Amino acid sequence: SSVIRASAPKLENVDELIDSVETFLFDCDGVIWKGDKLIDGVPETLDMLRSKGKRLVFVTNNSTKSRKQYGKKFETLGLSVGEEEIFASSFAAAAYLKSINFPKDKKVYVIGEDGILKELELAGFQYFGGPADGEKKIELKPGLLMEHDENVGAVVVGFDRYFNYYKVQYGTLCIRENPGCLFIATNRDAVTHLTDAQEWAGGGSMVGALCGSTQREPLVVGKPSTFMMDYLANEFGISKSQICMVGDRLDTDILFGQNGGCKTLLVLSGVTTLDMLQSPKNSIQPDFYTNQISDLLPIKAA
Ligand code: PLP
Ligand code: CA
Repeated sequence: SSVIRASAPKLENVDELIDSVETFLFDCDGVIWKGDKLIDGVPETLDMLRSKGKRLVFVTNNSTKSRKQYGKKFETLGLSVGEEEIFASSFAAAAYLKSINFPKDKKVYVIGEDGILKELELAGFQYFGGPADGEKKIELKPGLLMEHDENVGAVVVGFDRYFNYYKVQYGTLCIRENPGCLFIATNRDAVTHLTDAQEWAGGGSMVGALCGSTQREPLVVGKPSTFMMDYLANEFGISKSQICMVGDRLDTDILFGQNGGCKTLLVLSGVTTLDMLQSPKNSIQPDFYTNQISDLLPIKAA
């Protein structure tokens, strides 16, 4: 027998949802902004929720920036959000290494951009790699042998516009040949919206290359893995049933909320359309959906 799964209802009783939780977790791209453009009504919505005493936390899978760099982005967009309220997958990678007491005398090899390097620096880890390795080319000659550092105890892979074959080979050598070397992915998003003209290959494409070469699966620290959820729930001392996760993607945000036992609200201001939500092929249903977060505001009298 086949189970027919009802599609998520449109959010009607806004006050009931707001009153039922103490924390709103907001995904960033597609919810707060689109690229560098603030989404309509966001400042007013965040102000309203804060005035009702709600805690606001921001969670992004985009590892190209650090918490501090995201703080600047919020500020540029006219939003006052503290660094400690921002959980980017770059930060999650460093926080994960801290949580397992990754040895300070071991090194981290990074395939990714500046955000990961900045967070590893702040956490006091030894690291190398990053965008600079994108200039390295492998010139094949007979007997060529790539050396690698045996002290690398973790390879962190995130979205990387400077990705190349050198990085794949280097990371692969570390993972395959250094005993116990960790393989950590910031996120596995298949595609991302770097420009509004088309979909671009996401962080999952760089991670996938290393999966192919190592035949290993990474430990994912970004959404939908529960690492960040557990981390922030613990950090703020909040119970997960008191959280509403708001996001625009089913396979990262909504699954993240559901994996964490939170309430979930899908917004249609990003990548997911109503057709995608209601497609028989979709098995991930949020508790509610709505157009955009400003729908949480009281309706203004005409
Ligand atoms: N990764 C990259 C490289 C991105 O550019 C984006 C969105 O712009 C994301 C991930 C997804 O970010 P978020 O989790 O905030 O939607
Ligand atoms: Ca998003």
